[in-house]
Amino acid sequence: MAAGTQRLHPDTRVIHASFDPDPETGATAAAIVPSSAFAAGSAEELEAIFAGTAGGYLYSRLGNPTVCQFERRMAALEDGRGAVATASGMAAISATVLALAGAGDEVLAGSHVFSGTRSLLSRTLARHGIATRYFDARDAAACGRAIHDRTRLVLVESIGNPALDVPDLAALSAVCRSHGVALAVDNTLGTPLLIRPGDRGADIILHSASKFINGHGMAIGGVIVDAGTSDWSCGRYRHLTNGSRPHEWAFLAHLRREVCRDLGGCLSPFNAFLMMVGLETLAVRMERHWSNAAHVAEALATHPKVRELRFPGLPAHPDHGLSRRQFGGRFGSLLTVRLGSREGAFRFINGLQLCRNVSNLGDTRTLVIHPASTFCRELTADERAEAGVTDDLVRVSVGIEHPDDILHDLERGLEQV
Ligand SMILES: *Cc1c(COP(=O)(O)O)cnc(C)c1O
Repeated sequence: MAAGTQRLHPDTRVIHASFDPDPETGATAAAIVPSSAFAAGSAEELEAIFAGTAGGYLYSRLGNPTVCQFERRMAALEDGRGAVATASGMAAISATVLALAGAGDEVLAGSHVFSGTRSLLSRTLARHGIATRYFDARDAAACGRAIHDRTRLVLVESIGNPALDVPDLAALSAVCRSHGVALAVDNTLGTPLLIRPGDRGADIILHSASKFINGHGMAIGGVIVDAGTSDWSCGRYRHLTNGSRPHEWAFLAHLRREVCRDLGGCLSPFNAFLMMVGLETLAVRMERHWSNAAHVAEALATHPKVRELRFPGLPAHPDHGLSRRQFGGRFGSLLTVRLGSREGAFRFINGLQLCRNVSNLGDTRTLVIHPASTFCRELTADERAEAGVTDDLVRVSVGIEHPDDILHDLERGLEQV
C-alpha cells in the first residue's frame, strides 16, 4: 500500500491505495507489462524463485506485474491480506472451491447464488466428487445445522443475484468460525464501497471484476481476496498448511502456486490494466448507481403494471432493516420487477429504447434481462423457484445515466405490458 493511504476514505483509496507513480518514469498510470516470461539473473536465482525462497516473476500464468498491481489494489480496497486475480469471476469461484475442497468434501452455498455458480457447484464440481448443499443464506442457524465434518466452504453473495436477498454476514461468520469452516462472500453486487465482507468476518471475498469493478463493460476478470481473518490452521485445511509455509499465507500460496497455476485461468495484463482504469472511478459511479436505483425503485414500486418490485432499499423488502444496518443506508443498484406473465416481461423489454437487453450488470448503461429465459434457463424448475426466478421476473441493473431518462424509458416499457 502506498504510504499513508490506510486511513483514507474508501473514495480516495480506490484512486491511491497500493499505487505509487512508477519510480523510473514517474508515470501516474499503471504500466502494461505484456511479457509472457521474465529473465532471471542466474540459474541460482531462477531456482530460488521457483522454490519460493526468493520473490520475482517467472511466467505470466503465475504472476505478472500489471496483474499483481490490480491484485494489490483490490486487496487494499477489501482491507485483505492479499489477492489473486483470475480470467473471470467464475474462474475465481472455481479456483476457490478447488483450493479448499476435494472429492468427498462438501460446499454449503446460499440457495440464491448466481446461476453460473450454481451450475458450477451442482453439475461440474458434483461430477468431480465435490457435493454442494444449499441453505437459506438469511438463516445463519440453518447454516450451522448443515455444517458437518466434510464441509470445506460456505459460499454466499453479499446481495443475491437476482433474488436480491441479503444475508447477515456477521451472523454467518460467527457460525462458520465456531465450526472452523471458511466463509466466502461473492461481493460482485456489493463492491468494497457498499460493504467490506472481511469487516464482518468473511474469510474470502470474491469478485466478478467484469461488472462494477471495471464498470465500462470492456473486459472479463475476477479476483479472490484473502480477508486476513483466518490463519488456515484449522484441521479442515490441513492440505493447505503442509510444509513450512506460515499458516496465514497458506490459502493464497496454495491458490497461486498450485491451483491457479494448474488450472491456468490467469488474468491477462491488458485486462488487468482495463480493470484498473475502471477502478479509479468506482466511488463516483457507485454513488450514482445507488441513488439512481433508489429513485427508480421508489417511483416504480406503486406503478399499476408492476406486480412486485424488489429492492433492498424499500421498506417492504424482507431484508430492508438488515440492509440498512449492514450497508450504511445504501442498497446496491439492482432491482427486479414482476410483470404478471412471461409475455408481459418480454413486451416490457421490447418496449424499451434506452435500456439495453444485455446479459450483464454493473455497466454504466441501464441493463435489463429476463433471467428465466436466459442465464437461468439451464436451472431446473425447482432450482429456479428456489432462486426466486419466476417467469414474469425482469432484472434491472440501474446505470449512471440521468435518472429521469432511465425512469422515462422504463415507464415507456411498462406501457407495453
Ligand atoms: C457475473 C457474476 C459472476 C460470474 O462472473 P464472470 O466474470 O462473468 O465470470 C459471479 N458472481 C456474480 C454474483 C455475478 O454477478
